[in-house]
Amino acid sequence: MIRIGTGYDVHRLVPERKLILCGVDIPSELGLLGHSDADVAVHALMDAILGALALGDIGKLFPDSDPQYKGANSMKLLSRVIFLMEERRFALGNLDLTIIAERPKLAKHIPAMRESLAAAFRCDISQVSVKATTEEGLGLAGAGIGAQSAVLLVSAE
Ligand code: MG
Repeated sequence: MIRIGTGYDVHRLVPERKLILCGVDIPSELGLLGHSDADVAVHALMDAILGALALGDIGKLFPDSDPQYKGANSMKLLSRVIFLMEERRFALGNLDLTIIAERPKLAKHIPAMRESLAAAFRCDISQVSVKATTEEGLGLAGAGIGAQSAVLLVSAE
């Protein structure tokens, strides 16, 4: 059996916060605001996996009203989502992730982001696609960073 899922998220850019995307610390004057580490890319990815499994979304799993998730490392939350996936006997077929940002330029960080996600899934890097785009100054990106993701999961049985 195969299952597909999609996820979408946006966080606001603010001073005095780190910018962490796919678990990679990106040098930037501005970072993303959020209850957790605000890794918008991993949030969209987790929602895609949960969507594929019809398990709701990260807001249901890791409520931001719960103090245990304050400043949470989103890669640790991703490990828990991967555990839920594997518990249901699914494995990653492939994932495709698009980060929407006017700034900073992300191209040179994409290899590290792909490696970080491939390590989390313990999968081959060829199964992990990370892309970055701008909105030509026309959209939300600028005040923030958005991300959207699609995943295909394959049943291990
Ligand atoms: Mg989020």
